[in-house]
Amino acid sequence: MPETPSVPEAVRRIGRIHHVAVVVRSLDDALRFWRDVLGLPLEHVADIPSDRVRIAFLPVGESRIELVEPTDATTGVARYLAKHGEGVHHVCFEVPSVAEALTRLAIEGIELIDTAPRRGAEGPVAFLHPRSCHGVLVELIEAPGGPAWAALGYDRHG
Ligand code: ZN
Repeated sequence: MPETPSVPEAVRRIGRIHHVAVVVRSLDDALRFWRDVLGLPLEHVADIPSDRVRIAFLPVGESRIELVEPTDATTGVARYLAKHGEGVHHVCFEVPSVAEALTRLAIEGIELIDTAPRRGAEGPVAFLHPRSCHGVLVELIEAPGGPAWAALGYDRHG
């Protein structure tokens, strides 16, 4: 398909689906399907105390499945799990500059959860409200070396 010239560069240059996040009750139970049945490799498991979750990354092509297990009932992702059960939580797209993409999306009237890039486990991220994304919670992550990496104090390895 031809590119749509009216879509600004900052948004049009979505590089890839970085990850699809799936909220689960138990990482260990979920790995029995994603790793043991589907055969996806388990890249790593990490505790993210600041977000009160444990996550597991399973690469698939140029993307990853990210399993998210809440470790505390008070977080947004825990409430999501309680209300909706297990399932797809968000889709994350890689962009060259999160700040530039947010500016452009705001001009388009897209409701932003984060109005500026913030520190994520793997780089600068921001979320868009599902109300503006036809029911999908969309995350943006900045490609390595983008402008927010230095601004948010990542060293060169993140
Ligand atoms: Zn994510």
